[in-house]
Amino acid sequence: MVIVMQAHATAVQLEQVLSRIEALGFHAHVSSGSERTVIGLIGDERPIETEVFEVLEGVERVVRILHSYKLASRDFHLEDRVIELPNGVRLGGSAVTVMGGPCAVESREQLRETAEYVSAAGVRVLRGGAYKPRTSPYSFQGLGEKGLRMLREVADEMGMAVVTEVVTPEDVPLVAEHAEILQVGARNMQNYRLLQACGEAGQPVLLKRGLGSTLEELLAAAEYVLSSGNEQVAVCERGIRTFETATRFTLDIGAVPVLKHMTSLPVVVDPSHAAGRADYVGAIARAGVAAGADGLLIETHPRPAEALSDGAQSLDPAAFRNLMDEVARVADAVGRTTTFAAAAGAA
Ligand code: PEP
Ligand code: MN
Repeated sequence: MVIVMQAHATAVQLEQVLSRIEALGFHAHVSSGSERTVIGLIGDERPIETEVFEVLEGVERVVRILHSYKLASRDFHLEDRVIELPNGVRLGGSAVTVMGGPCAVESREQLRETAEYVSAAGVRVLRGGAYKPRTSPYSFQGLGEKGLRMLREVADEMGMAVVTEVVTPEDVPLVAEHAEILQVGARNMQNYRLLQACGEAGQPVLLKRGLGSTLEELLAAAEYVLSSGNEQVAVCERGIRTFETATRFTLDIGAVPVLKHMTSLPVVVDPSHAAGRADYVGAIARAGVAAGADGLLIETHPRPAEALSDGAQSLDPAAFRNLMDEVARVADAVGRTTTFAAAAGAA
C-alpha cells in the first residue's frame, strides 16, 4: 500500500500517519520529494482497508499494491490450473471443454434425449439445473432433488460428468453427492456463505460472474472458495448488464484475456445467457474460444419451443452438433485441441 500525503501536509500530520502505521504492526518507508511525501507500507496489507489511512488528516490518497485475491492470482500460481474430472475430462490446459445440456432438468425423458445427442457430439459434461434461481418466483423453479437424481442417473448411463447449480449452503452436500461440478450462479456470486460451503465440499466449482460485478470482484469471490482449501475453481464470463438491450446481457469478450492474465484458474464462457437468442449463441461461443476460453457452457434442448426455461436461447440438436464442429475448428485455428471428439477439425 502506498500513502500519498497532500502537498501541504504538516510534519504533525505525517507523524500521525506514521504512528498509525506502527500501531497496526507495519513498517513505513518514507520518501520525501520536493513536492510531497509518499509512504510505502511494508507488511501484508490485505487485511487493512485503505479507509484506515484515507480518513487521516493530510492524506491525499491511498493506493493498494496487492490484489484482494491472492491464491487465485497468476502471481501466486503461474501455471494454468487444470481441473480433472473423475470421467477423465479436464477443464483447463491445452484442450477446450464443452459442458452442454438443458437450462433446467424437466423430466427424465427430456434429459436422456438431450444427453444422447450431446454425448454423441463427444461432449462429456452434462449441464442442467435442478434448482433454478429464477427472476420471478412464479417461474418454474426446477425439480430439486428429483432433478439431481435424474442428472446422476442419465450422466452415469452415458459416462458423463454433471455440472449443476447449488443455491444455498445447506444444499451443498446433497448437490455434491450428485454432481462433479458445483455451479454458483451469477446471482449468487457474492453469497459468501455459499462460496465457503462449496469450498469445504472440496469438489470443483464453476463460479459465474455476477451481472454487475467487476473481474476483481469475481476473483475475490473465487478466493473465498480457494481460501477454504479448495483449489478446483473455474470462473465463467456469462455477460454483464450494460445499456444495450439487443442481447440479453453483454458478453465481455475482453474479460477472457484479462482473466487469463489475472488468474491461472480455468476460464469458461457461457454464450447462452449472454445471447438470450439461439441464433446469436454460435458466434459468441466461437469468439469465446478464439479469445482463449478453456471451456464453454451451452444450453440446448431437444425441442426449444417446449422448454420450461430459457427456450429462446437453447440450441436445438442440429444447431448444437453444428456448433461443436465449428468450435473444434476455431480451437484448432488458435492452437488448441478439444476434449470432445467433434466430427470435423481437431479430432
Ligand atoms: C445457468 O447457467 O443455469 C444460469 C442460471 O446462469 P446464470 O447464473 O449465469 O444466470
Ligand atoms: Mn438458463
